[in-house]
Amino acid sequence: MEKIILQDLIDKLNEYNPEEVETIKIAYEYAKELHNGQYRQSGEPYINHPLNVAYILADMHADKDTICAGLLHDVLEDTEFTKEDIARDFNQNIANLVNGVTKLSKMNFSSKQDQNLANTRKIITSITEDVRIIIIKLADRLHNMRTLQFKSEFKQKENALETMEIFVPLAYYIGAYRIKSELEDLSLRYLKPDMYKKIEERKLKIEQDSNSCLQEMLLKIQAMLSDKNIPNEIKVRTKNIYGIYKRLSEGQKLSDIHDLLALKIMVDEVANCYYALGMIHQQYHPINNKFKDYICNPKTNMYQSLHTTVFGPDDRLVQTQIRTFAMDRVASFGLTAYWDEEKGNARNAMQEDLKSKFQFFQSLTEINSMFGDNQQFVNQVKCELFSDNVYVYTTSGETIQLPKGATPIDFAYKIHTDIGNTMVGVFVNDEYVPIDYILQNKDRVRIITDDLSYGPREDWIEKAHTSLAKKKILDFIK
Ligand code: MN
Repeated sequence: MEKIILQDLIDKLNEYNPEEVETIKIAYEYAKELHNGQYRQSGEPYINHPLNVAYILADMHADKDTICAGLLHDVLEDTEFTKEDIARDFNQNIANLVNGVTKLSKMNFSSKQDQNLANTRKIITSITEDVRIIIIKLADRLHNMRTLQFKSEFKQKENALETMEIFVPLAYYIGAYRIKSELEDLSLRYLKPDMYKKIEERKLKIEQDSNSCLQEMLLKIQAMLSDKNIPNEIKVRTKNIYGIYKRLSEGQKLSDIHDLLALKIMVDEVANCYYALGMIHQQYHPINNKFKDYICNPKTNMYQSLHTTVFGPDDRLVQTQIRTFAMDRVASFGLTAYWDEEKGNARNAMQEDLKSKFQFFQSLTEINSMFGDNQQFVNQVKCELFSDNVYVYTTSGETIQLPKGATPIDFAYKIHTDIGNTMVGVFVNDEYVPIDYILQNKDRVRIITDDLSYGPREDWIEKAHTSLAKKKILDFIK
């Protein structure tokens, strides 16, 4: 990692937001002055940390308030400066953001003290007020993880674990894939150093071996698209080390991982994605069951793309991912892509879409309203939102996200309270199943309702997995 200096930040800002450079310089001078005499464990002046955080944010094209808050994010905790001072010298928005991030830095998921749990709760729910707080915190965590070598081994493991438990799911939910994969790899490096090294070496070997095959394909596809005057850009993408590790630990062999290497093909519009797909299938033989249309069926965090695995040159399996440039921005940056698309309205657009399009947001709001007790709230978030999910379909093809272990009861109540309360049976993939059937990925679920049903029985509470369903059943019985 090269060392970042103020000029790098300014250069980055000039790419997309030259008008705000002066204000941001002032924030930098403030932070520098306030942290004067403080040092990082690496021995460098403390200001390097907020500067790096601001740079990570500028790389996502964050707005001015977010960058200023990134520069000032540690002053409330480490200096005499107060929230009121920030509001006076900058603005209330920046003061709120810094205050939000400061509360966040005290969180500790493993602690049982109620003070800590209350804070944790405030933090997780802060996403409902302003998602930028979480984004700044992710940038902060990313830089801390990048510089983790200066901490004790105990701290390294503790931070890596906390990153995997809390920050990786948060990054996933807002669609910030780039940050998510880097955080995963950095964590694995400290949690399983030997494994990390081994996979890294083997991955490098595979990359070298397949380089010429990928280049050949890339040039061919590029030429075919350009021939038709379709604006395009193609990149080689390899799976991150953690992604490979996860597959290996599920029992797969390295040679079985069909998406280890991928060509990312970006074109101007949706129709051309399908055109490119047809063209690739005619040129390279596809594997039938490895085709996915995430354009018509977006993932629950808004990811859109066509995936198809084909036999490339030398019969090597290569996954191709085809999407528009706009979809690719969302794929890499998630919600934060709005900074580019919506400019001044980005913050509102992010908040609006979180509410209407991101399923985890609704679950989070529900869990928050259901549990008065902080311990229960934190446990519930961990086991319902921050653990593995299954994705199932409604009869109309909509994707529904549920925690692993969920049953048709959970599905019914997630769709609507009335559906849950009048459910009398369920079909999964056209087969009649018991209502405590454990849902699997890609199941198609059809709930049978009857308005004359007696309503949910008490033993459903045990058979349901989510707090939402349990609560609704209890409400009904009462
Ligand atoms: Mn920090």
